Amino acid sequence: MTEASKPCELCELARTTKWFAQFFEPFAFTVLECDSCDVPMAVLGEHRKSVTADERKVMERALQWVADTHELGELFFDDRMRQIPEHYHLHARVRPRWWPK
Ligand SMILES: [Zn+2]
Ligand SMILES: [Zn+2]
Repeated sequence: MTEASKPCELCELARTTKWFAQFFEPFAFTVLECDSCDVPMAVLGEHRKSVTADERKVMERALQWVADTHELGELFFDDRMRQIPEHYHLHARVRPRWWPK
């Protein structure tokens, strides 16, 4: 964690919701249930704004695995970061059944 005046929520990663999985290789990230959205999200283990395409692929695969395990249905990935733009996180949002393909 940095010396910022306001601690970063995603660096602290308080264990207030369900954690699905924690990865260390090839890089650190955690898959947990998002507090505000109730969907799985992957949080990068490092404080940076973006990930490489390869890293994103690894995170998507982990989210997909969690979604499959919990039979959440069809997903799409959403990395628009409204609340914490400084720390990369990727939501797996569930595509509503009524959505056109
Ligand atoms: Zn952070
Ligand atoms: Zn969320």
